[in-house]
Amino acid sequence: MTSDFEAQLRAVSLRVTRPRLAVLTALRDHPHVDTDTVIALVRVQHPTVSHQAVYDVLRALTDAGLIRRIQPAGTTARYESRVGDNHHHVVCRSCGAIADIECAVGHAPCLTASDDHGFAVDEAEVVFWGTCPDCSTGRTTR
Ligand SMILES: [Zn+2]
Ligand SMILES: [Zn+2]
Repeated sequence: MTSDFEAQLRAVSLRVTRPRLAVLTALRDHPHVDTDTVIALVRVQHPTVSHQAVYDVLRALTDAGLIRRIQPAGTTARYESRVGDNHHHVVCRSCGAIADIECAVGHAPCLTASDDHGFAVDEAEVVFWGTCPDCSTGRTTR
């Protein structure tokens, strides 16, 4: 898998570095985690990597389109390495858990604006909100 990541980095003209590979690996295994979690995951393998290095990697990879930054209203920014498929997210109002929702159409924009005001619309950002199974179970048994 690491060599796939190396190819991805080279494809966007980013130098292959250990922190970049570590962040990509962490996000592959743990989608939708926040910056602190990424730092903790990277440090399992690379204890000497600084906070700033991880911030820099997250920014560079986001700018290059290799990872996606999502920030549902009222939550901290999360990152994921699943990009380019226009998938959406469902967020638990109670605990903030996030899961992927396949895009029903498969490409952006997957919703048609009732009135686009003359804008060339190229994306519809959809967030589904609700209660996750863990939180609904806790509520009924409490
Ligand atoms: Zn929940
Ligand atoms: Zn996702």
